[in-house]
Amino acid sequence: MAKIVSIDPSNNKEIGSTTITTEKEIITLVQKSKKAQLGWGALSVKERIKHIKSMFDVFKANEDKLVNLISKEMGKGVTSARGSLDFYFENLQWYIDNAERCLQDEILNETKSEISKIVFEPKGVVASIIPWNYPFGMFVWQGCQNLIAGNTVIMKPSEFTSLTGKLIADLIEKSSLPKDVFITIYGDGKVGEILVNQDIDLICFTGSTAVGQLLYKKAAEKFIPALMELGGSAAGIVFDDVDVDHIVDSIYENRFLNNGQSCDALKRLLVHESKFDIVVEKLKKLVTGKVVGKPSDTKTDIGPLVSKRHFELVASQVDDAINKGAKVICGGKKLNLDNGNYYEPTILTNIKKDMRVWNEEVFGPVLPIMPFKTFEQAIELANDTRYGLGGYIFTSNKNTFEKASRLLKTGGLCQNNLSYVQPQNPFGGTKMSGLGRNNGKHGFQELCNLKVITCEK
Ligand code: NAD
Repeated sequence: MAKIVSIDPSNNKEIGSTTITTEKEIITLVQKSKKAQLGWGALSVKERIKHIKSMFDVFKANEDKLVNLISKEMGKGVTSARGSLDFYFENLQWYIDNAERCLQDEILNETKSEISKIVFEPKGVVASIIPWNYPFGMFVWQGCQNLIAGNTVIMKPSEFTSLTGKLIADLIEKSSLPKDVFITIYGDGKVGEILVNQDIDLICFTGSTAVGQLLYKKAAEKFIPALMELGGSAAGIVFDDVDVDHIVDSIYENRFLNNGQSCDALKRLLVHESKFDIVVEKLKKLVTGKVVGKPSDTKTDIGPLVSKRHFELVASQVDDAINKGAKVICGGKKLNLDNGNYYEPTILTNIKKDMRVWNEEVFGPVLPIMPFKTFEQAIELANDTRYGLGGYIFTSNKNTFEKASRLLKTGGLCQNNLSYVQPQNPFGGTKMSGLGRNNGKHGFQELCNLKVITCEK
């Protein structure tokens, strides 16, 4: 049986393996999922939530196991892994508390004699393909929301976090969730492709734009919907009215969290020329004070990048910028530690638009900073990307925020130290960052067929 090997990114040593699911097995599993969906989809949201609660209890009882494996397999520090898990637990709790409301019938029109309403029905079997950067979080967003909506799920975790995917699947087996309602398959992109070639009803994909484009074509051939949560290169704009001390922590968090590997991270910083030097200086002080180290150390702020391939990609993007004249404020090179994929947290200035750190998504601890003179120039630079996932506006002026937030072409935006990533807020992108939304009422409803019924009263 062919295996997929998991590697510890902190030393590039093998930590275990999972068996790759074969095409023959996938065909059988899709049939099982279809059968299970008939019963699962017929339950009320309330009844489904009872099973989700049972799953949640098992996850909570195994929090340490999840934290340690996620940290070991994808490299985020244990403290950060725990914080992330707690955040996704809160998301799950929000679903449990609010899903019934999100999916309740919606009255469109009511007269003395008739009523028209929308009912939200499950779509059926969902092929869910997720990345490695939030292996539990993406399971919650895609897996749990779909289950609550009445779909059955066949999930393929990333080949870089198969062990975490397997742990989640094993924990689900200990819950009351009926058999075959949630199925996990293992392997790389080829296995994902086999899955989407089957008779499925919805593709839910979170990952790179390149793979998203490929899967969207598959969905078109089948004429089924596809929810696409793809890459991002969000800009942060620092206007001249801010108190710099008040915002540097937020800039740091939004860029360097998860070792710089978040889709909605602040990947390009634009600073008004009057604040440029002070922002660069304060960020440098903050970033150089952070601990780059082993994921298992609770003091670690920034751990290794997930794989050698991603590590080399980030290094090549920074090298390209340096070769084209970028100034290294801090970092700028690989860190020699235990043969791991450690990259120094990096700040670059003298950025030009032809640099890859500007026009590609950088999935690592790298922050390019550019000055701007006018409001219009800031908006133009922020929108100068094929992506449109998130955006960060640093200003204490309500009007400036309001005006900028209307002009930035993104799926989400936030001001200063706030976050738009919350379970009640639909999350997703514009342009090449994706189609459709996760979370909130809108996210739940995307996973359903919307049926309109007009009947006598
Ligand atoms: P990726 O696209 O390489 O892989 C994602 C998943 O797709 C993996 O499970 C992979 O095995 C699978 N896959 C790869 N090729 C496939 C194919 N041909 N057919 C079917 N499945 C295939 O992305 P990644 O490197 O794992 O993740 C990083 C990317 O994900 C970044 O671009 C990041 O911005 C994005 N991301 C987006 C969001 C969001 O919500 N918008 C969230 C997290 C990550």
